Amino acid sequence: MEAPSKYVASTVEEKWQKIWEERRAYSIDVASAKKPFYTHTMFPYPSGDKLHIGHWYNFAPADTFARFKRMQGFDVFSPMGFDAFGLPAENYAIKTGIPPQVSIRENIETMIRQLKRIGCMYDWDHLVVTSSPEYYRWTQWLFQLMYQRGLAYKKEGLVPWCDSCKTVLAREQVKEGECDRCSGPVSEKEMSQWYWRITDYAQRLLDDLDGLDWPERTVLMQRNWIGRSDGVSFTFRVKDMPVEFDVYDSVPQTFMAQTFVVIAPEHPLTLELAKGTSQEKAVTDFVADIKAKKLVDKYAVQNETLGVFTGRYVSNPFGTGDLPIWVASYVVADYGTGIVSCSAHDERDFEFAKKFGIPLRTAMRPIDDAEADRVANLEYCYARAEEGVLTAPAEFAGRKWGESKEAVIGYIEQKGLGARSTQYRLRDWTISRQRYWGAPIPVVYDPEGKPHLIPAEHLPWKLPDDVDFIPTGVSPLAQSKELVARTEAIFGKGWRPECDTMDTFVCSSFYSFRYVDPKNSEEMCRRSLSDAWMPVDLYIGGAEHACMHLLYARFVCKVLADSGLVSTKEPYQRLVHQGIITNNGAKMSKSKGNVVSPDSFVSTYGSDAFRIHLLFIGPYAEGADWSDSGINGAFRFVQRVYSLLTAKPLCDEPLTDAVKIELHQTIKSVTTDLEKLHFNTSVSALMKLLNTLEKGTTLPREAASVFVRLLGPIAPHLAEELWSTALGQTTSVVDAEWPVADQKVLDSACVEVPVLINKKLCARLQVPKDITDAQQQELALAHPDVVKYLTTHNLTASRIVSKALRTVSIVGS
Ligand SMILES: [Zn+2]
Repeated sequence: MEAPSKYVASTVEEKWQKIWEERRAYSIDVASAKKPFYTHTMFPYPSGDKLHIGHWYNFAPADTFARFKRMQGFDVFSPMGFDAFGLPAENYAIKTGIPPQVSIRENIETMIRQLKRIGCMYDWDHLVVTSSPEYYRWTQWLFQLMYQRGLAYKKEGLVPWCDSCKTVLAREQVKEGECDRCSGPVSEKEMSQWYWRITDYAQRLLDDLDGLDWPERTVLMQRNWIGRSDGVSFTFRVKDMPVEFDVYDSVPQTFMAQTFVVIAPEHPLTLELAKGTSQEKAVTDFVADIKAKKLVDKYAVQNETLGVFTGRYVSNPFGTGDLPIWVASYVVADYGTGIVSCSAHDERDFEFAKKFGIPLRTAMRPIDDAEADRVANLEYCYARAEEGVLTAPAEFAGRKWGESKEAVIGYIEQKGLGARSTQYRLRDWTISRQRYWGAPIPVVYDPEGKPHLIPAEHLPWKLPDDVDFIPTGVSPLAQSKELVARTEAIFGKGWRPECDTMDTFVCSSFYSFRYVDPKNSEEMCRRSLSDAWMPVDLYIGGAEHACMHLLYARFVCKVLADSGLVSTKEPYQRLVHQGIITNNGAKMSKSKGNVVSPDSFVSTYGSDAFRIHLLFIGPYAEGADWSDSGINGAFRFVQRVYSLLTAKPLCDEPLTDAVKIELHQTIKSVTTDLEKLHFNTSVSALMKLLNTLEKGTTLPREAASVFVRLLGPIAPHLAEELWSTALGQTTSVVDAEWPVADQKVLDSACVEVPVLINKKLCARLQVPKDITDAQQQELALAHPDVVKYLTTHNLTASRIVSKALRTVSIVGS
């Protein structure tokens, strides 16, 4: 036999990438698709750092899935685009001094070249770039739609501010008190900002989570972020003052334990309450001090237990006495009413009361008497309350705390003390940014300062380029003479443009719709096309977007549906998060200098080997640790597959039973695993089949054909080369039929084995023909019918006999 020729990946991969492009192999006619299947990944930022391994780990396995669906006969639409506005692109431009318009274009060209090396079946005719005027015209259109529907408004208020990014952030973009982009501390600033009224959709955003095939953890994160809470609101009267206010209480069972009230430092009532009391100066100083601290790091302040008495009381609301009103650093001004009534049964309130010597009282005690002594000492707080029973009001004494919420709410309402109330933690979405590189907000102000929408005929409202894009905290667009001149020329003297740009999460909130119809200049997306393609069947991307992009996109989709523009109420039916590839257990980051760059590996081993390595490295949703040497295994697999198909003569003889059974078992497991995105086990099934096929002196054509087709999604270039050269096919392997496992063949691999207990037939086992005696006995003992028989007859299996693997007899006693 001739020595097998070596597979030269780079030559073959380049050859096929060129042919695919010439044939427009992955362009599909979205208007005439019979079996639409829409899948895409979260699009990347063209930041100039080029494609890193995280991109590859998102895109290559996602493409393997897309190819698998196409081979199953679906019209698979798999587009790609660039989230080109925003901080990463802008920061790169700042670093290099190259204007973002220029650097973006160059970076996108580079990234497209790199993306093509992965060999993904992207439909480049549907490319979207969010910073192009053709795209952001629709970002601006979406703003107008929100405005017209009463969902966009401008409001003066305290907003999270990142001083290193020099911009306002949405609350979702503050992670544990830090800026999501730069990890800098987040302070607070009083500013007039545009908001989108996502809170109007809070309940629907919760309800519709039920129908989604999403990771459980992400659904839970969204639920918690939206944060529905059912409780009561009380109206409290301030003693010796003609003032009333409402407080919201999410744990109404504790109302009889309330001994004090806390108010947020920035609440408009705070200073008013203290006025004229002996505490006036102390409160004024405290509020000024907290405000100053929040200008540095808002969230650090909220984690401290700082407070001061206002000098005022709430007048005896529950007949248990007056409640002192305190200002506390941890009260959030815009949750509930910004005023909270407090009891011993909340850990935070408990800590506050202990620190400032405020008396506490309980309204429940532990069920366990031994624990009850602790209550007497008031070293008892919320943490253990759920296991307790109520002690007050008297009507509820002895009832379980956890089961009493509804009844207590009823009692409070009936006594006229308060009313049922629902609150959400979700706040409206701050969409304006004091940055240059974003879609201009399509608003102008008349000489009186009143905002007006820019009429549609002037869209896209172009981003001016006569500005310095370095952020200073003041919107860079304010420097543009051209923008002012443009505004006055259209609207009249004294009219002024809006100078903030939109959060880039606005750009990505509707891009899945726009992908379908990216060249349409009349509509964001034709209804017939969005009906055919949306929702996206499978969306793949990082889990870090759970409460940002994935929440915003759901909100925008619902607004589009309410406007009668689309039918679907949800944009992403199935969602999968890929895991993270670490390096020696550490997260890869530029600052640590441990980033693995795919390019050199792709050049040395080939794109397919690199893809196989990523598929094989671990469970997709969990990620894995990178090892430089691991790719050798993938490389050897590629070489062995090539040798098998090119060095061994193909024969047309029928398959042996053993090969046939293994072939169909492999089809079955690869199909099932790919559907679940269990790529690592699909690759190992193919490796096992390769071992078997290598053992024969010839290679049956049928087995070769199945093997190459199963390889199609996993090593697209190699499979295409073998499909064409070794198997002599003229069409692309991605258009070949996906093999289907023959159930009869699978069944023939099994035999039925009766299981007898004390000579009575109890169960029938289906076991593989090549099972061992011990394995078969183990299966028999675990069979549910056998277990049940032994238990109901109070028997123990004392002896087990297999007769030549044809029956299992159990002696029970
Ligand atoms: Zn920042």
